[in-house]
Amino acid sequence: MKIILLGPPGAGKGTQAKSISNRYSIPHISTGDIFRKNISENTPLGIEAKKYIDNGQLVPDEVTINMVKDRLQQDDCKNGYLLDGFPRTVSQAESLQGFLKDRDESLDTALLIEVPRDFILERMTGRRVCPSCGASYHVKFNPAVEGKCELCGSEVVQRKDDTEETVQERLDVYERQTQPLIDFYKEKNLLSVVEGTKAINEVFESICDILGSVK
Ligand code: ADP
Ligand code: AMP
Repeated sequence: MKIILLGPPGAGKGTQAKSISNRYSIPHISTGDIFRKNISENTPLGIEAKKYIDNGQLVPDEVTINMVKDRLQQDDCKNGYLLDGFPRTVSQAESLQGFLKDRDESLDTALLIEVPRDFILERMTGRRVCPSCGASYHVKFNPAVEGKCELCGSEVVQRKDDTEETVQERLDVYERQTQPLIDFYKEKNLLSVVEGTKAINEVFESICDILGSVK
């Protein structure tokens, strides 16, 4: 299965991606996680990406597209993958379409997790993440027991770009640059939509219903 997850920052893409990846045995590819790993390792890619991420801006398309193409050519992607946080611009979406076409492949669905803007601030400022495996928690909605990641035991932290000011900027960037992808995939008959305001397990059930019917 080849799935992309769409939705504003804080919609719950990363949270649902972990469960989808387990259920369907496909790798979860989060461009945000790849950038953060590079930042923590101080690689040239990380140093370049940090300039944009800290300000809530998108990393330039060329850098991001090349990084994703490299990742999708790795062995574990042969039987499908789940993209989280990519594409985020029409140009990234077109590159992905070209990449798939060259391989005679296609997406199964672009799954939009729909959450209104007024839910997002509380979700993002209360988010805590595992710096080792990228798992997402929330101080109120999904607390990490004793502040430790339940998957790998690392201490969870707050992301530097989850401050109120940066969140507002990221939401503006989403509306300007990423929202047009909803029509892009609708026109290709690939869009499916799930209501993301319900509890985490209820959203997952709805996602499984959708994925059961697209395959
Ligand atoms: P994204 O990957 O789309 O940016 P996350 O999956 O990291 O979003 O979720 C953002 C925050 O909201 C996290 O703190 C997460 O624990 C919390 N969260 C995710 N889904 C829900 C939900 N359905 N209800 C309440 N909180 C949620
Ligand atoms: P995320 O973890 O998905 O919230 O992404 C964190 C940050 O990484 C974003 O605010 C962007 O700065 C950067 N980023 C992640 N994915 C992309 C992408 N597809 N294109 C450009 N920048 C991205």
